[in-house]
Amino acid sequence: MNQHYDIIIIGTGAGGGTIARALSETSARILILERGDFVPRENENWDPEAVWRQLRYRTKERWRDRHGREFTPYTHYGVGGNTKFWGSVLYRLRREDFRAIQQVDGLSPAWPIDYETLEPYYERAERLYQVRGEAGIDPTEPPRGAYPYGAVPHAPEMAVLVGKLRAQGLHPSPLPLGLLRVGEDDGCILCNTCNSFVCKLHAKSEADVCCVRPAIARPNVTLWTNTIANRLVTDPSGRRVTAVEVERNGESLQVAAPIVVVACGAVNSAALLLRSANDKHRAGLANSSGLVGRRYMAHLATMMQGFHPLRKNSTVFQKTVGINDFYLRGPRTEYPLGQIQSQGRTHGVMAQTVVPWIPLWAYEAWVSRGVDWLVMSEDLPVSENRVTIDPDGGIRLHYRPNNLKAHRRLVAETKRILRRLGFWIVVKHSHGSTNTTHQCGTLCFGTDPRASVLDPYCRAHDVENLFVVDASFFPSSAAVNPGLTIAAQALRVADHIRDTEL
Ligand SMILES: Cc1cc2nc3c(=O)[nH]c(=O)nc-3n(C[C@H](O)[C@H](O)[C@H](O)COP(=O)(O)OP(=O)(O)OC[C@H]3O[C@@H](n4cnc5c(N)ncnc54)[C@H](O)[C@@H]3O)c2cc1C
Ligand code: SF4
Repeated sequence: MNQHYDIIIIGTGAGGGTIARALSETSARILILERGDFVPRENENWDPEAVWRQLRYRTKERWRDRHGREFTPYTHYGVGGNTKFWGSVLYRLRREDFRAIQQVDGLSPAWPIDYETLEPYYERAERLYQVRGEAGIDPTEPPRGAYPYGAVPHAPEMAVLVGKLRAQGLHPSPLPLGLLRVGEDDGCILCNTCNSFVCKLHAKSEADVCCVRPAIARPNVTLWTNTIANRLVTDPSGRRVTAVEVERNGESLQVAAPIVVVACGAVNSAALLLRSANDKHRAGLANSSGLVGRRYMAHLATMMQGFHPLRKNSTVFQKTVGINDFYLRGPRTEYPLGQIQSQGRTHGVMAQTVVPWIPLWAYEAWVSRGVDWLVMSEDLPVSENRVTIDPDGGIRLHYRPNNLKAHRRLVAETKRILRRLGFWIVVKHSHGSTNTTHQCGTLCFGTDPRASVLDPYCRAHDVENLFVVDASFFPSSAAVNPGLTIAAQALRVADHIRDTEL
């Protein structure tokens, strides 16, 4: 057993990568465990065929849904986790998201911290991930200073649409985007293979490039790739984790440190705790509340495309527009509906994965005349939506989407908006309950140990040296992209560990 580390961090995504970067600046000896490897820089990074048909970078793991049917989750294991593939839309939650909000299907619960508590960490996270945006335009924007970098300008055709959206009385605003060195020699070239692709230029703000590589450049940080954490072992009292059982390149071993930070993503972190059940934690580690794995959320997301058969869309980088007019209250309803974003260009291959028998050339002709949008609504934490472990050790995801009425209203409203913009046809598609990209909520944080798994600093109520800093701490999913909030809280937890444990 290796005893020479002060901190073990498991996972290198938005949570694990960010906390590794922050703690690397202390003198603590840190071991990072990552089940995957570095994603190679290769032509396939930007090849829709490799990414969307061959699923080259997607996990080969199979999970089961609530009916026991197997599916391939939309998730990636490797250095940087899912941030390598994200669209880099890096929003702060709205101030209201931290409070209880009445949604169509029930109450979205309050967070144990308010926006003001996280605000300085949002600012640090935006600097770390070099976020570009423009303050003062989005009507739902929480109080904030200027962005570290100016917004990415809308492409000419998108700028025309923005003008027309304003003429409809809406308040489109620039999406906050984490893109590195835009327009510089070695920087982002604003291409059309960003969201769901790896950046071949390493010009996307993601955890591998912004956090893990700078962290492991320091002498106090060690990274073990191809190392999966299978189980956390506790002392006889059950109050402290004493070792992490890992499998490294086919070999089983244990590693130990006084502080263990789990950041495997919301589903895998819950699975790790459930698999770590022992005499003192019969229902899973840190599970005295019975909430480990429960309250899983994933957002309700629908892709929409507006088409004009006579108008080719020449935009390359399209993902610059956010519409938050219905975030807190919809038209013709007092309830929040969610968010609308312009989305990266759909490629023919991507579209063909939906209906494979339509020939590729037909799809290419179709998507070349389309403008793509993402419509996203909050789903609510309910106990029945949960992660469990099957007898064979596999992951089962019980998820029945809720708050669908709000989402359907937002989809219908978006369709009206797009028709008013002059699109002849509007189509939509959703990956439904197998879309695990925005997974969160399985180990929620709170002040009451009977009603939460983690405390407000993401320390397990039941296990004093165990922290969890990935998306699992979310008590509600809000309706903006989760990544910046995960990173901000990871920075806050890093400060707390530095001040109280080191
Ligand atoms: C295509 C796509 C687009 C997205 N776009 C956006 C966006 O524009 N904006 C945004 O905010 N969010 C976006 N997201 C979501 C965002 O990527 C996630 O919310 C975020 O990465 C979650 O961070 P995390 O730390 O919880 O988990 P992850 O980033 O998933 O990291 C978990 C890490 O743990 C590792 N791991 C898992 N289990 C183990 C184990 N047992 N042992 C060792 N290592 C383990 C994994 O390999 C991985 O590195 C997108 C996601 C996808 C897939
Ligand atoms: S060059 Fe820019 S737009 Fe293209 S993948 Fe990289 S970060 Fe994304």
